[in-house]
Amino acid sequence: MNEHREPAATDEIAQIREAVRGLCGKFPGEYWRALDRERAYPTEFVQALTQAGFLAALIPEEYGGSGLTMRTAAAIMEEIHASGCNGAACHAQMYTMGTVLRHGSPEQKKRYLPAIASGGLRLQAFGVTEPTSGTDTLNLRTQAVREGDHYVVNGQKIWTSRAEHSDLMLLLARTTPREKAKKRTEGLSVFLVDMREAKGLTIRPIRTMMNHATTEVFFDQMRIPAESLVGEEGKGFRYILSGMNAERILIAAECIGDAKWFIDKAAAYAKERIVFGRPIGQNQGVQFPIARAYAQMRAAELMVHEAAALYESDRDCGAEANMAKLLAADASWAAADMCVQTHGGFGFAEEYDVERKFRETRLYTVAPISTNLILSYLAEHVLGLPRSY
Ligand SMILES: Cc1cc2nc3c(=O)[nH]c(=O)nc-3n(C[C@H](O)[C@H](O)[C@H](O)COP(=O)(O)OP(=O)(O)OC[C@H]3O[C@@H](n4cnc5c(N)ncnc54)[C@H](O)[C@@H]3O)c2cc1C
Repeated sequence: MNEHREPAATDEIAQIREAVRGLCGKFPGEYWRALDRERAYPTEFVQALTQAGFLAALIPEEYGGSGLTMRTAAAIMEEIHASGCNGAACHAQMYTMGTVLRHGSPEQKKRYLPAIASGGLRLQAFGVTEPTSGTDTLNLRTQAVREGDHYVVNGQKIWTSRAEHSDLMLLLARTTPREKAKKRTEGLSVFLVDMREAKGLTIRPIRTMMNHATTEVFFDQMRIPAESLVGEEGKGFRYILSGMNAERILIAAECIGDAKWFIDKAAAYAKERIVFGRPIGQNQGVQFPIARAYAQMRAAELMVHEAAALYESDRDCGAEANMAKLLAADASWAAADMCVQTHGGFGFAEEYDVERKFRETRLYTVAPISTNLILSYLAEHVLGLPRSY
């Protein structure tokens, strides 16, 4: 199913970029610094994005969203980050619903998508990773056992971000024991769990190096209605994989935004900081790393655009979405490191926001998928090298 209308005209994207920049201008560095100190959730920022309709960009108009293209959605996330803000508090509201849109029943779509589009329902918790299985998703242990018109869920997830700020969770759990599944990739199922009603669900926040609202979640005899199942039982791994390209492209766009922020910040500082009687940016030793970070960001940006264009024309974009994520995460991290170096000691001072953004952008070479796993995907699936694990 094509969930998008024709690619938005470039001037439409330019207008949306400007609107996002205008909104982000109301949430300056002081706002994010105060939250960062307390590890508090940016409620007002998320509300403003929701009210402006930006988080409903990818929901088709027939379900109350704006039915925009992936390139437009990526531009929204990029602008948020290029403005010094952080979309991690709510980016999942934009793409997690894709699993329901692609694989949900007509009733599920009618019931949930309009409410997600309006922001009345928050679907931004995504329960896949577990403490023991890590990246080896097929080894996850959380179980959902059918009992009459319910499933009973037992197990644990980790790094379930935004669970405390979400009404619904998209949960991946095992419904057929691994040894009984016909194929290695079968036996896992996806559920849309209404966390407001769930009993036997415990959420514990994890304090991390940046302000990320991530948690661990425990399921103890949690009973959920059978109609929480999305699509067919046992096919959940495939459904989750099909949603990952959107996540990768959007997070890659965030990395491009971060890289742009670091590059602008460093270039501005290098022009105004005078040492030895001249701007530090007059020294090639300071100029070149900024120029290199810029070139690296621009190259990664091309891959993000290519992946988004393939995605919205319904073509296979697995390799491009993965490469976009890999290159953009590397580019934002390189730009972050360069920006700290350019600022010298002030790179470490809270009031410059550089150290905060540096901590925030570090995440993306690890999550939502780590660089090594992308390399092994490319090696095996694109280059035909032997499977390594
Ligand atoms: C802040 C934060 C937020 C997150 N949010 C979510 C979320 O909302 N929902 C969710 O489900 N998950 C979430 N995650 C989990 C994230 O997707 C994982 O942390 C990530 O995929 C890496 O898995 P892991 O931490 O288990 O690392 P592991 O799988 O334990 O791997 C550790 C290291 O070993 C490397 N490695 C492992 N196997 C191989 C191999 N075969 N070859 C080469 N290298 C290998 C990895 O690349 C990694 O660098 C989040 C994580 C963080 C830190």
